Amino acid sequence: MALIVHKYGGTSMGSPERIRNVAKRVAKWARAGHHMVVVPSAMSGETNRLLGLAKELAPARADDAYWRELDALAATGEQASSALLAIALQAEGMASVSYAGWQVPIRTDSAYTKARIEAIDDTRVRADLAAGRVVIVTGFQGVDALGNITTLGRGGSDTSAVAVAAAMKAAECLIYTDVDGVYTTDPRVVPEARRLHTVSFEEMLEMASMGSKVLQIRSVEFAGKYRVPLRVLSSFTPWDIDIVEEAKSGTLITFEDDEHMEQAIVSGIAFNRDEAKISVLGVPDKPGIAYQILGAVADANVEVDVIIQNISKEGKTDFSFTVNRGDFTRTLELLRTRVLPGLGAQEVVGDAKICKVSIVGIGMRSHVGIASKMFRCLSEEGINIQMISTSEIKTSVVIDEKYMELAVRALHKAFDLDQTPV
Ligand code: ADP
Ligand code: ASP
Ligand code: MG
Repeated sequence: MALIVHKYGGTSMGSPERIRNVAKRVAKWARAGHHMVVVPSAMSGETNRLLGLAKELAPARADDAYWRELDALAATGEQASSALLAIALQAEGMASVSYAGWQVPIRTDSAYTKARIEAIDDTRVRADLAAGRVVIVTGFQGVDALGNITTLGRGGSDTSAVAVAAAMKAAECLIYTDVDGVYTTDPRVVPEARRLHTVSFEEMLEMASMGSKVLQIRSVEFAGKYRVPLRVLSSFTPWDIDIVEEAKSGTLITFEDDEHMEQAIVSGIAFNRDEAKISVLGVPDKPGIAYQILGAVADANVEVDVIIQNISKEGKTDFSFTVNRGDFTRTLELLRTRVLPGLGAQEVVGDAKICKVSIVGIGMRSHVGIASKMFRCLSEEGINIQMISTSEIKTSVVIDEKYMELAVRALHKAFDLDQTPV
């Protein structure tokens, strides 16, 4: 008997029929003798629907009073699906109870819409498991020190699941989704993409942070920090497939380099359309300008990704960086009104129609010429590179959004990702 955490995403929970299927699958695992904790997402489209309603009533504002209500609203999607799953399990003859984040409780900081989990008290959950119940822990949400409901950022149910698995030292955390594992790139963009049987934790971390939304980045961080055995697999296999076969399916995230079976130099391609570029032009090239610009941006709680500073001409330089597209307008506004006047720069311009494409692979550490192969491939397709950023195991480029799919397909082919490695 083991403690197992299952997480089911929005599509997997997308209709009463699908919820019934999830219940049957979970009941199968419980009947096989496992202690089951299940973390569901909101039914697909529900979080967007709720946030859309808020937008209809008022444009987004920067104050906490607004973000607090947005979280209280968005968290209801998961609360509904959790109760529905408990009802479906009970209908399968399986004792089950659902808990909202605050009931567990899952304690977070107060950064509404992107709160971080600080602690999980598993006393109540353990008591239910001991009493033979399947416990549903509502995904995506927590509670701050003042009792306010918080949410963990889009895709945050992955993080709820891995954090619960870490806190409870679960034997495994299984992330059930609408694809049957982690692919060399999003199979919706490149049909030739191949499923990886294993992917190293480091590669998964880069893929997630570079935009592969199959796992939320914070869930991968948790898995790494607490060594949570993590697997991504399909919820669309028949619920009654053999449990041993099911437990081996999908993609396993591994922690040891030598477990990395598929020794490709580049393992995957990630892309992110959620970024926007901001350039501050004609900045006096003197010490402290990066701090003046990016310090103000950080103070506004805006995360900055790729940064470049051009060489200076006649004492002036251009400074560009990317931010999340959701933060684009307010960052532009902030720079124009509060930073530009004191900086003596010429102007601030922005471009929201960009995207970032990244190649990821631990083999890049020990091979030279990988980045140049990427640049050659893009140049052959006539795609202009606006920014470049590298780490030991990834190279990212910022390009015009309209070339994103072309770039991803061309790179997938150039690095032979459609071929099974020998
Ligand atoms: P869920 O609702 O189950 O959390 P998500 O939509 O958040 O599902 O994540 C699954 C989706 O991630 C897939 O449908 C796929 O389009 C996308 N995706 C992006 N990159 C990859 C990748 N490398 N491998 C598999 N899926 C990917
Ligand atoms: N429902 C939330 C979202 O759509 C969280 C999740 O699905 O993981 O982002
Ligand atoms: Mg998701």
